[in-house]
Amino acid sequence: MSEALKAVKGMNDILPPESARWEWLEARMRSVLQRYGYQNVRTPIVEPTALFVRGIGEVTDIVEKEMYAFEDRADKHGQAEHLALRPEMTAGVVRAMVEHAFLRDSGRRLYYFGPMFRRERPQKGRYRQFHQMGIEALGFHGPDVDAEVILLGARLLKELGLVDGEHVHLELNCLGELGERRAHREALIAHLEAHKELLDEDGQRRLYTNPLRVLDTKNPALQDMANAAPKLLDFLGEASLAHFNGVRAILDAAGVRYTINPRLVRGLDYYNLTVFEWITDKLGAQGTVCGGGRYDGLIEQLGGKSTPAVGFGMGLERMLLLLEEVGAAPPAPVPDAYAIVPTVEGLPRVMVVLEALREAGVSVVLHPGQSSMKSQFKRADASGARHALIFGSDELAAGQVAIKSLRDATGAQRLESLDAVTDWAPLLRNA
Ligand code: ATP
Ligand code: MG
Repeated sequence: MSEALKAVKGMNDILPPESARWEWLEARMRSVLQRYGYQNVRTPIVEPTALFVRGIGEVTDIVEKEMYAFEDRADKHGQAEHLALRPEMTAGVVRAMVEHAFLRDSGRRLYYFGPMFRRERPQKGRYRQFHQMGIEALGFHGPDVDAEVILLGARLLKELGLVDGEHVHLELNCLGELGERRAHREALIAHLEAHKELLDEDGQRRLYTNPLRVLDTKNPALQDMANAAPKLLDFLGEASLAHFNGVRAILDAAGVRYTINPRLVRGLDYYNLTVFEWITDKLGAQGTVCGGGRYDGLIEQLGGKSTPAVGFGMGLERMLLLLEEVGAAPPAPVPDAYAIVPTVEGLPRVMVVLEALREAGVSVVLHPGQSSMKSQFKRADASGARHALIFGSDELAAGQVAIKSLRDATGAQRLESLDAVTDWAPLLRNA
């Protein structure tokens, strides 16, 4: 036998019964998205590397260290494209909107689900292939849209059984506009220069290239210095403050609680004005389950017409870990019925009956292959099905099936006619 191959480190198989939890999560999320009028968008996993360098920012962890980027094979002219596996999807969605002129007439509310790729150190809640659900509202200026995006996130969390204040909490900040960030940046660089000896190699390098990111550190030795740094909120002008207060007023009216975290900057360069994160303290250092904000400059930066936009990305692995942690995980779905067929001769007839049941909306699993009644009953029990359908030779000869409830201890059994499937099928679905 040759050596068995393994999945790439940090990239996971999602198998039953775990995959059923994913489907449940995705279905619950889609139902919420639909209630807000969001439409699905699917873009390629592979994009030109330049899209992410321009979109996310050159001096970010994602682009500098985490991106799976490669050179494609050369074509017949010797030209090779620089490609990357998407580390996030906002840049791809924006590219698609610009490419297909989708933002010309009106705004768009879009959502996506899909795998993202980052070469990080794999650990609980942090993988190299992970999945996000995300939304993007493109073409809308007002703070009402920022608030709607946050309200949608709050509803998602609530409908999944997560309790605000107990399992998750919202952190909010306002990054202002470019001029305000520049003024703040100068003050911040001066502050960082005064504490240069504390900074690690990354920090020293980013002091001048991306000083805000120096504050977005998990290094405990830097916390005091970061806390004492000049705060962007103190540099905001009237318009930015009005926007921020507008968002806050709606959240307050809707009863969504938040704390203002002046150090919240997010790991991508494209954000302005509102930024936010939903955080849990149940998953250690991987506590951010959802992050987003406004990115009014990105569309123009990627070659489109200047268009306001706001959105978020939610990590599905972290959501499922959190749901499990707090006991809010869904029950595994079970079939309505399990079909037991003692003899192969009966199969053609039985399979026609099963099709009629499925036509009537019943989920029914056929025991595969030939085995003893005892082992078929064992499988029926293990499947979690509510009913066993027993197609014995005697029953079939009489044009009947024996239906046994697997849930009531009396083991009561009744006979039904194979010619009247539609009469009794509903009983299997509801009981
Ligand atoms: P973190 O600070 O935890 O690295 P991030 O700021 O890099 O997160 P975003 O780029 O904002 O994360 O992505 C949005 C969400 O996607 C995160 O809040 C998180 O739930 C999830 N996520 C990001 N990176 C990973 C990963 N490597 N593995 C699993 N989930 C991830
Ligand atoms: Mg990260």
